[in-house]
Amino acid sequence: MGVGEHVRQIADEPLQQLTCHYASGDLLVSFDRHNTREQYGAPYLQMHRADLHALLVERLRALAPDAIQIDHRLVEVSLSDDATSQGVSLRFENSAGREIERRVPAVIGADGLKSLVRRTLWQVEPPAYSGFVAWRGLAEASQIQAELSEGSKVFAGPGRLFVRYPIRQGRLMNYVAFLKVAEPQGESWSQQGEVTELQALLVGFHSEVAAILAATPEGRCHKWGLYARTPLAQWSRGDVVLLGDAAHPMMPWFGQGAASALEDAVILGRCLQESTSMAEAADRFQRTRLERVSFIHRESQAGGERLTALHPERLRDSAVRNEDSLGLMSYDPVLGPLCA
Ligand SMILES: Cc1cc2nc3c(=O)[nH]c(=O)nc-3n(C[C@H](O)[C@H](O)[C@H](O)COP(=O)(O)OP(=O)(O)OC[C@H]3O[C@@H](n4cnc5c(N)ncnc54)[C@H](O)[C@@H]3O)c2cc1C
Repeated sequence: MGVGEHVRQIADEPLQQLTCHYASGDLLVSFDRHNTREQYGAPYLQMHRADLHALLVERLRALAPDAIQIDHRLVEVSLSDDATSQGVSLRFENSAGREIERRVPAVIGADGLKSLVRRTLWQVEPPAYSGFVAWRGLAEASQIQAELSEGSKVFAGPGRLFVRYPIRQGRLMNYVAFLKVAEPQGESWSQQGEVTELQALLVGFHSEVAAILAATPEGRCHKWGLYARTPLAQWSRGDVVLLGDAAHPMMPWFGQGAASALEDAVILGRCLQESTSMAEAADRFQRTRLERVSFIHRESQAGGERLTALHPERLRDSAVRNEDSLGLMSYDPVLGPLCA
């Protein structure tokens, strides 16, 4: 799309990733990312989701001004029962309460974890609470009263994990705390959490963690119950195909869900260019993506228990399983082969 240079400008490039003991801060595992460009032909970047969205929207509008219509909530999707009738019917509502109906030749359902397209057209099992809650927060870097090491850092403790990394050229410190909680919790991006509650839950963590929590402004902390979903065997139905979390929702332990959705988009785009119908493109898309996505799904599923095990010291001696060590970053969706 020609946004590479802009992405680099809005992103942060952590040159190291450290995993430390939650209380003492002693180093357990270290990843050097200085050579990422030489190794993989691209830098390892971290960024604010809203910044990436804004960039993609701006570029897409420049390329195809009518491609995006905002303020349209999909409320119904249906395939025709009549074999002679082609296409998919969609019904939207906007914030003014207006209803908009469309009949379109094909649909890409990229509507996320709770996809309406998936819920309507597929038989899905209800998600199962994973036993973990993720607390997400954004702290003002200038307000953090501690000397922080560069790059990203993980503090690993029994049943509790704190991950932090800089975004917006270091002006914000993004963090996610994962906590084992027996009681099922709500699953939502927008569920507010109180920093004071998180501070109580992370008692005993290193002073760096306390300093980051103390620098979190009001309203910048959210909690999210993590739910596991069974992968779908089939990502398309007729002229409807699912992509990203809608197709393969995964646990966040590998930080690969958004990356996988972007890879999907590139591969599906290539399949559409090289196929004569949506059904053919969707079939190639799934066959090209399934093995890799299923692998990441399985690894992500197992990550939580490993990273929050009773004795974090053991991480020092055990084989590391992350995106580097498992070779995930060697993959190139732009140039890699498509299934025939
Ligand atoms: C705590 C946590 C941390 C994570 N950390 C990372 C990370 O570090 N790296 C990473 O790669 N991934 C991470 N992920 C996963 C990542 O957020 C998702 O995998 C990714 O957002 C999926 O992208 P998507 O485009 O498929 O869906 P989404 O990003 O969910 O986008 C779906 C879009 O569809 C819209 N939508 C939904 N329903 C409707 C409707 N009915 N009508 C109209 N629009 C609709 C939504 O508003 C949204 O804009 C994390 C997830 C969690 C929970």
